[in-house]
Amino acid sequence: MQRHTKIVATIGPASRDPETLARMVAAGMDVARLNFSHGTAEQHAETAGRVREASGRVGRPVAILQDLPGPKLRIGALEDDHVDLKPGDRVVFACGEDGIGTASRMAVARPELIGAMTPGDDLYLADGSVRLRVVAVRESTLELETEVEVGGAVASRQGLNIPGPLDELPSVPEEDLVHLAVGEKIGVDLVALSFVRGPQDIAFVREHTRLPLIAKIEKPQAVDRAEEIIRAADCVMVARGDLGIELPIERVPIVQKELLACAGRLARPSITATQMLDSMVHSPRPTRAEVADVANAILDGTDAIMLSQETAIGGYPVESIAMMDSIARTTEKAAPYRRWNEKRVHRDARDPSYTVAYSVCMAARELELDAIVVPTLSGRSARLVSAHRPTVPIYALSPGRETIRRCGLIWGVRAEFLRKHSVTEELLLDACRRVVELGWCQPGQRVAVTAGLPSGVPGSTSLFQVQQL
Ligand code: PEP
Repeated sequence: MQRHTKIVATIGPASRDPETLARMVAAGMDVARLNFSHGTAEQHAETAGRVREASGRVGRPVAILQDLPGPKLRIGALEDDHVDLKPGDRVVFACGEDGIGTASRMAVARPELIGAMTPGDDLYLADGSVRLRVVAVRESTLELETEVEVGGAVASRQGLNIPGPLDELPSVPEEDLVHLAVGEKIGVDLVALSFVRGPQDIAFVREHTRLPLIAKIEKPQAVDRAEEIIRAADCVMVARGDLGIELPIERVPIVQKELLACAGRLARPSITATQMLDSMVHSPRPTRAEVADVANAILDGTDAIMLSQETAIGGYPVESIAMMDSIARTTEKAAPYRRWNEKRVHRDARDPSYTVAYSVCMAARELELDAIVVPTLSGRSARLVSAHRPTVPIYALSPGRETIRRCGLIWGVRAEFLRKHSVTEELLLDACRRVVELGWCQPGQRVAVTAGLPSGVPGSTSLFQVQQL
C-alpha cells in the first residue's frame, strides 16, 4: 500500500553525496530541503543537481524545498568552532560585526539588534538550551553585554533567539531576495519563509516569485495571526524548533494541533518539523517518545513530516527516512478517515471544486473504488481532494513537470505526466489509460476520475466519473 504522509529530509554534509542521496530517495524521501542558512550558492546548486540525478536514477520524483533564513539572527564563527559557557560568564555581542568570536565576545551580523534590546531581556543560544540576560546596551559601540544564566556548549554560526516582537528587524531581509534569485536559477520547487510575522510577508515575497510559498510559523505573533497567514500562503510549516524557544515549550503540542487543524480547514498542505527523530542523529533507533511524536503529528493531520539534523548531519540519514516511512505506514492504518472526509475541510460554497473533491472521496468509500485519478494543471484539484483525506491513493496527472514535483508535499498524492487535453472525454479516457500504463492500477479496477469543463482551464474542476479500467 502506498504511504500517504510525505517525508521531507534536510540535505547536509551527512547526505550530500550521490550514493546516500540515491538511498534516501529509494527509502522514501519525497522532498529535499536545502537550508539556505548554511552553505554557498554553488553548494546548493550542486546539491540540487545531485538530488535531481538521484531522483532520476531511482525513478521517484523529489521536490526541492528552499528554506530561506529570514531575519534569523546568528552568531558568527567561533575560535575552535565551539565554546562552553558557564553561569555568571559575561559575553559581549558585537552587533554588525563579522569576525571570529570567543567565549567572551561574539559577532552578530545585524546592527539593528541594538535598537531592539533593553537590559533585563533574555537571549537564547544552542536551540534554547543556553540562556543569557542583557546587562548593558552600548549604542555608541553597538555592543550588547550579557551574563550567562544557563550555560552549555555553543557552536559556530548557531541561531540566536530573542523572544518578542523584534519589529526593528525587517521581516524579509534583502539577503532572502538574493537567495530567492539563486533558488529560481537552481530550479527549486517550493520556498519556505522563516519567522513570518503576518500575511504581508507572504504578499511581499509573492511580488518576487511565482513559486509556492511555505509559511514557517515560529513567532508568537504568527501564531496569533495563523489563519490569515495560512490563507495567504500555499503551505504551512509548524517550525517547532524556534517555536519552542519563542513560546513556552509546553504550548508547542497544542499550537501544533491548532495549526494543523487550521491548515486542514483551509485545505493547505502542512509540514511538521524539528526533532522528530532527534536521537537518530547519533543512534540507529529512535526513542519511543519520538515514534509517538511522529505518529501523533500524522493523527493531527499533517501532510508531511520533516527531518532536520537527522539527515543533514546525523549518522543515520537513510535509516531515519526508513523509520519515518514505517511509522507513517503503521499509523495511517488507524487514522480517522471518516471524520477527516466529512469535517476536515471548510468547503467554499461558491467553488464547485471543493464539492467535487468531497464527493469523490465519499464515492471512493461507498463504492469501494481502488483510486482517485485527478488530472490537474496547477495541482490545486489534487490538493483539494487530498485535503479531504480519502482512504485510496490519489493519482495526479499533469502536463506540468513543476506541478508533478510540487505534489511531492501533498498527502496521499502520487503524480506523473499526462499530456494536455482540451476535450473532456479524451482527458478522462487518457487519464484511465495512463494509470494502467504506469502500473499504478490494473485493468478491471474501478476508479473515480475528476475533470473540468472546459478542459485545460486551471481551477475548473466540476465533475467526476466512475470508470472500470
Ligand atoms: C524550526 O525552527 O523548527 C525550523 C524548521 O527552522 P530552522 O531549522 O530553519 O531553524
